[in-house]
Amino acid sequence: MTRSFQVIVVGAGPAGSSAALTMARAGLDVALVERGTFPGEKNMFGGILHRMTSIEEVFPEFWAEAPLERHIAKKGTTFMTGEASFHVQHETVSFDRTPYNGYTIFRPRFDRWLAQEAVKAGATLITRATVEDLVYQDGRIAGVTILGRTGRISAPVVVAADGVLSFMAKKAGLRRPSFDPGQMAVGVKALIDMPREMIDDRFGLVRDQGFANEFVGCTGGVRGGGFLYTNYDSLSVGLVFHLASLRTSGKTPYDLFNAFLEQPQVAKLVRGGRLQEYSAHVIPEGGYAMIPELVGNGILVAGDAAAFCNATGVNLEGINLASHTGILAGRTVVEAHERNDFTTKTLNRYKERLNFSWVMKDLKGFRNAPKMLHIDRIYNEYPDLVCSMMEHLYRIDGTPKTSIPKLILREVREKIGLGKTLSDILTAWRAL
Ligand SMILES: Cc1cc2nc3c(=O)[nH]c(=O)nc-3n(C[C@H](O)[C@H](O)[C@H](O)COP(=O)(O)OP(=O)(O)OC[C@H]3O[C@@H](n4cnc5c(N)ncnc54)[C@H](O)[C@@H]3O)c2cc1C
Repeated sequence: MTRSFQVIVVGAGPAGSSAALTMARAGLDVALVERGTFPGEKNMFGGILHRMTSIEEVFPEFWAEAPLERHIAKKGTTFMTGEASFHVQHETVSFDRTPYNGYTIFRPRFDRWLAQEAVKAGATLITRATVEDLVYQDGRIAGVTILGRTGRISAPVVVAADGVLSFMAKKAGLRRPSFDPGQMAVGVKALIDMPREMIDDRFGLVRDQGFANEFVGCTGGVRGGGFLYTNYDSLSVGLVFHLASLRTSGKTPYDLFNAFLEQPQVAKLVRGGRLQEYSAHVIPEGGYAMIPELVGNGILVAGDAAAFCNATGVNLEGINLASHTGILAGRTVVEAHERNDFTTKTLNRYKERLNFSWVMKDLKGFRNAPKMLHIDRIYNEYPDLVCSMMEHLYRIDGTPKTSIPKLILREVREKIGLGKTLSDILTAWRAL
């Protein structure tokens, strides 16, 4: 049996549901196809939904209605070695006032809700449906087939929002058949239940305040970092590893993650919690250089499927980019229907919209960030350097003190070398 729509969106993650919502609100007959039993069932991430203004234009009630957890009022970074740690933290009333700067969320709840909003706007959500292939007619996309089902879903245009591995973009010939492990990362996360009062006391939070902390130097020498985010009554704790570096190390994420949770600095933060679940997912971390061809005849690619993820080492942004690019893809499809033209001639407007958007400006601006994140010294030597310098600064033992500039120079020379440090500073300068 063939079901006909004006557009098919593959994947009901933030990119797909934002696209579907935009197009349904504009009056298009939209099929939103999701492989999970419900949207979000298979989706995991670290935990922060960054503020995004684009969704407010399509959906003004978004922040009031979305299933959010705590707003992030405090952000911290911890540099650690096996024996020491140095922690910096930023807290400001402006992050503690609406509109807030970001919230922790749960993907199964959030993704399901956003997809339902698209349904309320008129989209048809088809779950337990893995899109297997694109259907072509007269050289143009005419729909998709679903794994294990006969017939097809037909439409003159498809939005591929099927996430980082995007088989749709691959099948349309828009991205390379294989990935470069140097552009990919893998994240592992544990959800740890903890009473709300315990979280408030431990992290110094009141009302609905939340805390987001990143860790450097906790990945056993593998390029990557750790995170801990507070939900209402649970903690999201995890590690992210660059895939190429993990492979070379021969270490397993499981062992590294257990070692991380057992480090004294982390163990005391999760003590008293109860492990609820583990999950893992891949992240496209290659930045601007990783973006594939975004448009073909009858197809547009949005979100992680198009590598729209910005990992700068300071923040990891993905959901906000996914939602914004989904909205821009949706607007372009609405225009294509008005013109009744689904060729690249009209769909290339998506690229124009992207080029004017903050998404492309940010990705271009931070296009050297992946290069910086490939400096192995960030994950071993620099945390050691920071912790060692702080130890010397804080130690008072009746011996003469070294002046701070001399101390910095001595430590840099001994632990890293002046030339390497200057070269790393230059790389970071260019990247950030
Ligand atoms: C460990 C980790 C930490 C992260 N932390 C953050 C963070 O704190 N903040 C942030 O903003 N971002 C973060 N990200 C990135 C963020 O999760 C992604 O950028 C975002 O989920 C991309 O959304 P998307 O809709 O493009 O893809 P996805 O969320 O991957 O959604 C794709 C959807 O398509 C469906 N699908 C796939 N293939 C098919 C198919 N063939 N047929 C039907 N359906 C299909 C999937 O089931 C899924 O529902 C993190 C990612 C990871 C892995």
